[in-house]
Amino acid sequence: DTIGANLDRTAARFPGRDALVEHSTGRRWTYREFVSDVDALALGLLAAGFGKGDRVGIWSPNRAEWTLVQYATAKIGAILVNVNPSYRVHELEYVLNQAGIRLLISAQEFKSSDYVAMVDEVRAKCPALEQVVFLDRDQWDGLFDRDGDPARLAEVRLSADDPINIQYTSGTTGFPKGATLSHHNILNNGFFVGELCRYTEQDRVCIPVPFYHCFGMVMGNLACTSHGAAMVIPSEGFDPGTALAAVAAERCTSLYGVPTMFIAELDHQGFADFDLSSLRTGIMAGSPCPVEVMKQVIDRMGMAEVSICYGMTETSPVSTQTRADDSLERRVSTVGRVGPHLEVKIVDPVTGLTVPRGEPGELCTRGYSVMLGYWEQPDRTAEVIDAGRWMHTGDLAVMDPDGYVGITGRIKDMVIRGGENIYPREIEEFLHTHPDILDAQVIGVPDQRYGEELMAWVRLREGAAELTAETLREYCTGKLAHYKIPRYVHVVDEFPMTVTGKVRKVEMREQARRLLD
Ligand code: ATP
Ligand code: MG
Repeated sequence: DTIGANLDRTAARFPGRDALVEHSTGRRWTYREFVSDVDALALGLLAAGFGKGDRVGIWSPNRAEWTLVQYATAKIGAILVNVNPSYRVHELEYVLNQAGIRLLISAQEFKSSDYVAMVDEVRAKCPALEQVVFLDRDQWDGLFDRDGDPARLAEVRLSADDPINIQYTSGTTGFPKGATLSHHNILNNGFFVGELCRYTEQDRVCIPVPFYHCFGMVMGNLACTSHGAAMVIPSEGFDPGTALAAVAAERCTSLYGVPTMFIAELDHQGFADFDLSSLRTGIMAGSPCPVEVMKQVIDRMGMAEVSICYGMTETSPVSTQTRADDSLERRVSTVGRVGPHLEVKIVDPVTGLTVPRGEPGELCTRGYSVMLGYWEQPDRTAEVIDAGRWMHTGDLAVMDPDGYVGITGRIKDMVIRGGENIYPREIEEFLHTHPDILDAQVIGVPDQRYGEELMAWVRLREGAAELTAETLREYCTGKLAHYKIPRYVHVVDEFPMTVTGKVRKVEMREQARRLLD
């Protein structure tokens, strides 16, 4: 099936239900109105000379227009390139050229960054770029062809295996790579997320996670449109108070976020004033979720059916998921079991052999979700997808006898101290039990004697007393094995983050090296 055909079917079933709501502006579309705008935009793109296989970039925070472009490009078989809203000229130029973007649809500004000036700066250096359309200008309205013949859309020859989307990875571990995804990849993944959350046309899903990432555009948008649920956009960028306000005002039944977003919401001063009683479910994904946070999401936010999903851009994204009928223990401490029609195995990163249950190794996955490849980077594709079509994720995991998977870290983040393999995740979990600690991250730093030593970066709760390496070490003593007790403590207000809300440990390691010099 293709994304456009799937949307049309949903709209035919639920024409009068809300498809899209923009909480910050009050704009809203029923499914009938949404498809009508999508079709007008798709016809306009065709009329302007864009079509199958052409790369169309979208550089904008979460706005209704993002979603319209997502579905309009899918209808004409153009390849949507998601451009990260936090990119600056260097990365923008790279993506425009790497993906060969012919048409860029761009916001004019976001978070006081001037996108117009940045586009102007790089434009001459991007030979493939023929046209730029800025949102909120006449040229954007001019893209819609409202009198076009819808039959022209039916004539576009689409196959479910066509590339439809290039998404750059978050850049958590290095420079982003452009995962190329098909209708088949992402529509199925979105559909199964909708099944997991048991979405119907009654559901209203609050999506504060960026559309530029799979979490927003697949697990959010495609899960909704394949089930007739409403996509609710709280605001352009993430703001905890606005997300909570959107849930209350729109009676959302589901809320998404990476753990740091849920932490910010739970910690929000006005938390108790928001009526969150409509919440039934939601998804937490993207990075490890501290058990404490998960418990609070269930108890204080009322998200009884919340799921944890694990995945990556290259796998459209979901590979494993917890389900509402899993035991509470498993729902808070694992990333669940493999998703429908997918395979997962854990292998020894050196020998490639599957490890016995319960032993750590690299998680590999295979099935409909695995990307077509990195855009025009066959060598890098071959590094991660093997001859048997298994995707090697670079994540360390263990699988228990019942198939529940625990993510223990990234191969790149594992710390080796005096010959002991240390998984920072375990120590981070433990630090969360400290009453003064709001959030904690643990990294390895170079050490003469042990090769590597542990450094904890912590964010303290408001009003907390000073925390020194000594007091923290004291707290850990007797509870953690001696080699797992962080040698250094660094108190910060914020961690260096990607726009998808992930902590950039590469950057922390660089900063730490300078701190220790
Ligand atoms: P890059 O590949 O550019 O370094 P990235 O891997 O962070 O960045 P994404 O594709 O956005 O880019 O993220 C996928 C990664 O996020 C996974 O490989 C995994 O490390 C982590 N992740 C995702 N979901 C979870 C989860 N539920 N628990 C723990 N880690 C997770
Ligand atoms: Mg990655």
